[in-house]
Amino acid sequence: MERANKIYHSSRNFMFKYILAFLWTSFNFFIFCKAFSNYHHDAQYFYLSRILGNGLCVSRGTAPVLNVTMALITLPTCKTFNSLLHAIFGRCSMRMLVHYLEKTKVLHLLLGFSLLIVALIHSVAHFVNIINFVGNYDERYREINWANGPNDSVARLLFTTPTGFSGCIMLLTLIAIAYLARRSVRDRFYNSFLTTHHLFLVFYGLMFYHPLSNIIKHQTNTDKHRIACDLLDNVTLHSNEDLMVLCEEPPKFGVGVKRAWIWPLVGLLIYLVDLSYRHLTSHSDRYRVTMVQSYTMAGRAVHLRLQFLRKSTVKVRPGQYILLQCPSISTLEWHPFTITELPTDTSNNLTLTIKVRGDWTEELYERIAQREHSRRNAGEMDPYGRIEFLLDGPYPSVMSSMLDYKRIVFIGAGIGITPFVTIMRLLLSSNIEHPVRIHLVWIARSMETFLWFTDEIARLQEKLWRQNKPDRFWVKLYWTQNFDENLLVECFGDMPSIISRMHKGRPNWDDIFIDLVTLYPKKSVSVFSCGPKELTKEIRAKCKEYSKHGCSLNYFHEGFG
Ligand SMILES: Cc1cc2nc3c(=O)[nH]c(=O)nc-3n(C[C@H](O)[C@H](O)[C@H](O)COP(=O)(O)OP(=O)(O)OC[C@H]3O[C@@H](n4cnc5c(N)ncnc54)[C@H](O)[C@@H]3O)c2cc1C
Repeated sequence: MERANKIYHSSRNFMFKYILAFLWTSFNFFIFCKAFSNYHHDAQYFYLSRILGNGLCVSRGTAPVLNVTMALITLPTCKTFNSLLHAIFGRCSMRMLVHYLEKTKVLHLLLGFSLLIVALIHSVAHFVNIINFVGNYDERYREINWANGPNDSVARLLFTTPTGFSGCIMLLTLIAIAYLARRSVRDRFYNSFLTTHHLFLVFYGLMFYHPLSNIIKHQTNTDKHRIACDLLDNVTLHSNEDLMVLCEEPPKFGVGVKRAWIWPLVGLLIYLVDLSYRHLTSHSDRYRVTMVQSYTMAGRAVHLRLQFLRKSTVKVRPGQYILLQCPSISTLEWHPFTITELPTDTSNNLTLTIKVRGDWTEELYERIAQREHSRRNAGEMDPYGRIEFLLDGPYPSVMSSMLDYKRIVFIGAGIGITPFVTIMRLLLSSNIEHPVRIHLVWIARSMETFLWFTDEIARLQEKLWRQNKPDRFWVKLYWTQNFDENLLVECFGDMPSIISRMHKGRPNWDDIFIDLVTLYPKKSVSVFSCGPKELTKEIRAKCKEYSKHGCSLNYFHEGFG
């Protein structure tokens, strides 16, 4: 059991992507080899492979790999489907699978990357096939030759036939999707990335159309016309009765039954059903919400409190997030936000803290600021009127497991603190026993950011001191830009526990991790982080490094982009 746990954690921490990539590549290689060898050895393809050579085997070998990948690639994006699996596996304590379901983005990226590579190989192989169809044209086998004659043009086959043309468009679509899905594009033009990603529907549509030209034909009478019969001249053939039986008929060719499209279709249908279900539930009375509180906060952030209109309590686990739509801003955009306060039996509310980051959050901020302004100046009309929201979720995230661990370290950068805020509020409002030890490291550029939650941090510290458990909650705050001692005292003069825990500049990770390994020798500590990619990389490396010093540091992270 101990060993299984160790394997689980090391795979979860440091090798997740590599193990997954290795398993997926091996699986693909296996499918490819099987199909390759089938086309290489099967007598039915003897004549076709004489024209196309290994191009036939490579193009047909990659086809099932593409079908399987297309069947699976939509699944990580099916949020309801994954939540269902997450709940089932979670109940059966299948933590490894639960973890994979929390890493759906990694799975989707891996599948997308492999789809691109295999599609490129498939396309090159078919390009070689087209050249060979023309170059190796033999009038005797015109039935299986896609070209119209030895002088047919490669460009005609490539660009004017349904198969060639659809293949080119599919490849271009895939390249465009992949190019616009790069991190640099996602970070700067998220909506463009999301819109162009929907070109996948073109890709799927063409995929069903692509094989309709039937360019791959097999021999249907291999029992009456064995391999190489055509090499025998008439005299030899008719002088030997055995040979006459084996080569009774000239070769006949036909088109096989195509069933491979069923796999991508199943994947696509699951995606469409999931999407429709989410659309219906988010517009249904069950998930109807009304905004009961909203205000702007220092540092260009807003606080939103939404109330479910239904009577029964909505079940939400700490760390989970919802997708929010504000129809008056955009009816197409859904943005993910962590739930910072959970619904309870007495109040079916949830709260969100939203920091301005781009155009959508900016627009929301402006509307809430305008509401406040109109309310302050009683009688003034709010130009935006009532703000309505639609809600989709809640959905699990890696942060949902924070309560399952005995010792946790939470490292949050700026708004990345929100997954921890739920836990903090739970600790404040109830007497939950886990986690037994909590270390919080919160890094922010400006003093305004600290104002969001320092009050609650101080209250939690006080509560635990009163309960005589001062060691349960350790706090370190890092103010990284324009540190100002006077401003610090001005803002937190009445909270000495916050002032004493505020540090100037960035954290020295070595000091923090040395403290951890000294405090918890031979124990296991779960390190959660939420922040930019560079921070994630750094902390992952530190967890790996300090795990060698006798303390097992298990790393979990969530990025907000
Ligand atoms: C699981 C999760 C939980 C989050 N929790 C919070 C939170 O509690 N508080 C908070 O302020 N922010 C949170 N975010 C980040 C928040 O979703 C983005 O800041 C917001 O979507 C930005 O939208 P925008 O149009 O204003 O900015 P844009 O300029 O459009 O985008 C800024 C960046 O936000 C990300 N982003 C934009 N739209 C989406 C989207 N639909 N889905 C995923 N990422 C997107 C992209 O990385 C983009 O580069 C969370 C993100 C995730 C993935």
